[in-house]
Amino acid sequence: MSCYQHILLAADFTEHGKKVADKAKQLAKLHQARLSIIHVMDNIPITDAIYGPIIPFDGDLTEQLMVAAKKQLAKMAADSDILETNQYMELGSPKRKIVKIAKEQNVDLIVVGSHGRHGLALLLGSTANGVLHHAACDVLAVRLKND
Ligand code: AMP
Repeated sequence: MSCYQHILLAADFTEHGKKVADKAKQLAKLHQARLSIIHVMDNIPITDAIYGPIIPFDGDLTEQLMVAAKKQLAKMAADSDILETNQYMELGSPKRKIVKIAKEQNVDLIVVGSHGRHGLALLLGSTANGVLHHAACDVLAVRLKND
């Protein structure tokens, strides 16, 4: 039996995301594992450039941001051949939600980048750190450098 059966890719839609996604995809192939993807929209940002062009304010902004984020998630999932049933879009604290979904879905490996938007080149970002400390399963932090 393969070492990992269900791998969860944590996607923050940053420029380094492809490197993290490629590593998760390779590992899933190697272990013949199910590959899932999660993006967590941090508690209600006013707007966020990572979700694409500015969204006109019309009614429930959170809902509109969620729709835009889901589109980004679907695009990234398609690039990594991840089925719709394996895509998770959550609202709240990224580290908490990543750990929660991993537990609920019996994930045995979470793949994160060593840092995202706020991290420094050689330090572990706060989401990566939080996931590493609280996950019940293995966590792979893909080393990202600001080239
Ligand atoms: P950070 O700790 O924010 O520097 O980000 C480190 C890594 O955690 C990123 O490279 C992603 O893999 C993951 N991550 C950060 N924020 C999110 C998010 N909102 N949703 C999903 N994964 C995230």
